[in-house]
This record gives sequence, C-alpha cells and structure tokens, in this order.
Amino acid sequence: MTEAPALPKVTPYLIERAEDLCPRRLRLAFQNQKGDGGAFLRGRVRDALIEDARAAHAELGPPNPASFHVRTELLPEEQAVQRRAIDHYLAIFGDEPVRAIDHDDFDRPVERQGVLVGGWIDLACEGPDGEPELRQFELWGRPMFAEPADNMTILLAVLRLSRWVGDRALRIRLADLVGGRVVESTVPAPARAQLVDLYEQRIATITGRTRRAEAIAGDHCTACPYVPGCPAFR
Ligand code: SF4
Repeated sequence: MTEAPALPKVTPYLIERAEDLCPRRLRLAFQNQKGDGGAFLRGRVRDALIEDARAAHAELGPPNPASFHVRTELLPEEQAVQRRAIDHYLAIFGDEPVRAIDHDDFDRPVERQGVLVGGWIDLACEGPDGEPELRQFELWGRPMFAEPADNMTILLAVLRLSRWVGDRALRIRLADLVGGRVVESTVPAPARAQLVDLYEQRIATITGRTRRAEAIAGDHCTACPYVPGCPAFR
C-alpha cells in the first residue's frame, strides 16, 4: 500500500520567516520533507524541565519541588542550566496553585485546514477556578515577547489550544528560566479572530513563496537541514 503524502507542516520558525526565508528551504520544510538535521540538543533540557513541571502540577496546588530533578545523563553544562531553571521556576511560580492539563493532544502537531500546525506548548494549566494559563519557558536568551502577535511560538500555541480554552480568556506567561524574568499577556476569546487572520496571512505568504523553488544562500543556511542537494552548495 502506498503511503499518503505528508500534509504540509508549519512551525513557529516558518511563520516567523515567511517573508524572507530562502524559498527552497521554505518549500521543503512546509512540504514536511525530512531534512538532514542533527538532534536538537537544546530540547533535552527543555524536555526534562517540562516533564517535571507537568508532574509538579499533577494535582491542583503549588508546584511540588520533589517532582524536579536534574538528569544525570545530561552534559554538565546542560545540568547547570537545568538546575538554574528549576530554581527560577520555583521562585516565579512556587506560590501559585494550578493543575496541569493532559498534554497528550498538544504534544504533536494539530491539523488545521489541511496544514499541520507544530510548535511547542510547554505547560498548559488551570487555576483554582478553572482559569486557563499557558506557561512557555525561555532557556536560550531570546527576546521576550508574550504577545502572540509578536511571538510566533506563542501565536501557534494559542491557536492549538483554542478548543481547550473555549470562550475563556487565556493568560500567557513567558518565563526566562535562566535569566529569572517573566513577561505576560492575556488573550480574550474575541481577540483570537485577529490572531487567526495573522496566521492565515502568513500561511498565504508561505504558500505563495513556495511556488518558487530557488535556493538563496544567506544566514538561514546555518542549521538548514536541506544542505544536501542544495544547488547553492555545489
Ligand atoms: S542551504 Fe541555504 S540556500 Fe540551500 S536550501 Fe538551505 S537555506 Fe536555502
């Protein structure tokens, strides 16, 4: 039996770079074609942290510090980052009772109008009165924008969580767990329509640009998984 072709897939990076990413890379990534990328090592620290944070909020309450533990299989520098991130998580969120929701539906891309919407959702949780909150963690010193219109990871997370959030307002907190800072925003349910518009504009830009296939070398060649076979590198 022949396999059905993969659906197109969008990630926060593609949405962010819709207008200026090399068309060849944009096309191959949007077509969900496997590249030659190595393991995304930064994800190891993040994965351990969110696993612990979700476990720490298995029941409604402040985070259980016993749920956090530094992974000995990580490299020493990764362990140092993880240790610091745990300390900052508990300092920032340690007094606040929330319960983590079941993330099974959010740990894989969600289909939206024939496109798989990817991206990370770190911790989605509910407060004592069921108020929904998204906590995203920054571990690599990137700019801190909590507004979905300014942060494509958060934009895609808001869209992916919309069924769960329903007609409630979503509180968003972006915490730099290395630097110990937190920024926040709130998305009332009616404001999601504008975010959908923004998303659809970016998808239209991507699909328009993927009709071209030319390789245009630039800063985006760094870490590009499609270097093999790229005409710009012959
Ligand atoms: S290596 Fe550079 S030019 Fe080639 S596809 Fe990737 S981004 Fe484009």
